[in-house]
Amino acid sequence: MRIFLFLFLGISLGCNSVPIGPSSGPAFQETRTLKKRPKNVVLMIGDGMGLTQITAGMYGNANKLNLEDFTHTGLHTCHSGNSYITDSAAGATAFASGHKTYNGAIGVDMDTFPVVNILEQAETANMATGLVSTSSITHATPAAFIAHVSSRYKMEEIALDILNVEVDLLIGGGKKFFSQRTMDKRNLYTELLKKDYFVSDYSRERLSDLAIDTEQNFVYFTADNDPAKVLEGRDYLTLASQIATRFLKEHEEAGFFLMIEAAQIDWGGHAMDPEWVISEMIDFDRAIGQVLNFAKADGETLVIVTADHETGGLSINPGSRTDGIEAAFSSANHTASIIPVFAYGPGAELFSGVYDNIHIYGKMAHALNLKEKIKIARQRAVEKEED
Ligand code: MG
Ligand code: ZN
Repeated sequence: MRIFLFLFLGISLGCNSVPIGPSSGPAFQETRTLKKRPKNVVLMIGDGMGLTQITAGMYGNANKLNLEDFTHTGLHTCHSGNSYITDSAAGATAFASGHKTYNGAIGVDMDTFPVVNILEQAETANMATGLVSTSSITHATPAAFIAHVSSRYKMEEIALDILNVEVDLLIGGGKKFFSQRTMDKRNLYTELLKKDYFVSDYSRERLSDLAIDTEQNFVYFTADNDPAKVLEGRDYLTLASQIATRFLKEHEEAGFFLMIEAAQIDWGGHAMDPEWVISEMIDFDRAIGQVLNFAKADGETLVIVTADHETGGLSINPGSRTDGIEAAFSSANHTASIIPVFAYGPGAELFSGVYDNIHIYGKMAHALNLKEKIKIARQRAVEKEED
């Protein structure tokens, strides 16, 4: 409750700054006993997806969305460590690590010290891990799940950090930050191949044409820079989500952590373009349906859908019909609005209620029993060395 109290104090004092968040460690520990723990977690982030973006997507999709099939819903407050209005870097760092940080920070705290993230912890626990995005894989949201860099704009440094993590699957744009680097002239594309990853990209073959070997780690670049819009023909998110869930399940017996991002709902908001927002929202919902079907059949997968923040202050105004909404934006930037959370599968009950964005990390880690899994994995490693 402290966060709320400070926020309200801040408002009543007419003060613009938000209290600095914890930098020493995640402040929140989820302790509720679960009926059943999930083996796998899929966190799906619709960047810039507030309630109105969801509503607009629903009306634009004959009044239905796969989101309606989720069993539990909640709300999170999304302010960052230095602003009421978060950016995607601080928002994703909060989800990934449980730390509030400053806008622009990728996996580092208020003092720019690295903070461990759930993907790294899942790797330590011998789980499989993956990131899928409709932006560059080095863009703020996926980056915060794998890199530790003081600024989101240091794309080549983020790519370098990716090579230090044994991530099992990556699908997204940003090939040039690996293969055409100005910073050090290294070719990280070939370095990934040398690490025995399967690596391919949009210029060689289509994702749908690939015969995927689940033994080898998998990287597929969907674009040189940021991928195109849905409106311009981008269509890989649902397929990538299907490939990722199947691949990670087969790749490792110990379960998996997967983050899937629909990056461009946010970009449509910045552009104040309702068609862009709605088409990306519907595209995301299709991928959500795909993951939900996987989770229903699998029975051991917790799926969480949320956003880092709302973008554009979108409203649906009088004159709207189901076949065409009268949309208006109040800003070309992010807003501070509370954000919805949808959950399905074992552990979904943890995501009901109203909480802060950093709690999403704590809830996922608790559901997976990550602390215990890491302890066991470390003990095994020590035993192996002694043998
Ligand atoms: Mg993003
Ligand atoms: Zn944005």
